[in-house]
Amino acid sequence: MFKDKNRLYLTYISFSMEIDTPIFQGQRKQLCEHLFSKGYAKEQVLEAMMRVPRHIFLESGFHQHAYQDKAFPIAAGQTISHPSTVAWQSELLEIEKGLKVLEIGTGCGYQAAVLVELGVKLFTIERQKELVDFSKKMLKILGLRAEQKFGDGFKGMPVFAPFDRIIVTCGAPFVPKALLTQLSPGGLMIIPVGDKTQKMIRIRKKHDNTFVQEVLGDAAFVPMLRNKE
Ligand code: SAH
Repeated sequence: MFKDKNRLYLTYISFSMEIDTPIFQGQRKQLCEHLFSKGYAKEQVLEAMMRVPRHIFLESGFHQHAYQDKAFPIAAGQTISHPSTVAWQSELLEIEKGLKVLEIGTGCGYQAAVLVELGVKLFTIERQKELVDFSKKMLKILGLRAEQKFGDGFKGMPVFAPFDRIIVTCGAPFVPKALLTQLSPGGLMIIPVGDKTQKMIRIRKKHDNTFVQEVLGDAAFVPMLRNKE
C-alpha cells in the first residue's frame, strides 16, 4: 500500500519535469527577493536557489504553492525544508566553490541541489531508502553530481572525511561525535540541536582541534533518527 503511494509520487514527478514555466521562474524570483529582503541569504546563495526548480521535487498538487515559504510533505513521511531554512543554512555555511561538504538528511534532494549549484563537492546521507533513490533521480535529472549514501548520519562518511563543511538538515538530539571528528580543522558545521524544536548551532573547528560554538536562532526540523540498517 505504502509502496504504491510512493510510486504514484515518483510518477507525478516524472510527469512534471518539463514544466519550469516562466510563471514558476517569476514566482521563484519573487521568493528569492523576499528571502533577500528578510536577510536569510545574500546573492550567491539566492542565485543558486534561482537555478533550482523547487516545484519539481513536489507532487503536482503542490506545484502552485512551491514558491511560498512553506514546507511540504514528501515520500516516507518526511518533508522538504522551507526555502527560508535552505537559504539560511546555506548562508551560514560560508560556502566557497570546491569545498567538500557533507549533508546529513538528503530528503528529496532540494538542499543538496542548491549546494551543488553553489559549486561544492557534495556528500549526502539519508536513512530512508526510497528518498535516496528519489533524490538520486532528481539530481541526475537536474544534471547535478553528488556522492549519495543510504546510511546513518550519526556515523557520517568516514571514508570521505575530512569535510570542510557539515550541514545537518534534521533535528539532532545532540552533536554526534563522529561528525565533529570528520570536520576539517578550520571547517564549520551547522546543526539544529533539540527535540521538537531546535536551536541552530554553528560549530567552528579551530586549527588546534578545539571547537567554538555559536547559537544562532530557532529551527523546527523533522527528527534525526537512528538508522534502520
Ligand atoms: N535536506 C532536505 C531536508 C529533508 S528532511 C531538504 O532539502 O528538504 C530531513 C531528512 O533527514 C529526512 O529525509 C530524514 O529521513 C533524514 N534523516 C533523519 N535522521 C537521519 C539520520 N540519522 N541519517 C540520515 N538521514 C536522516
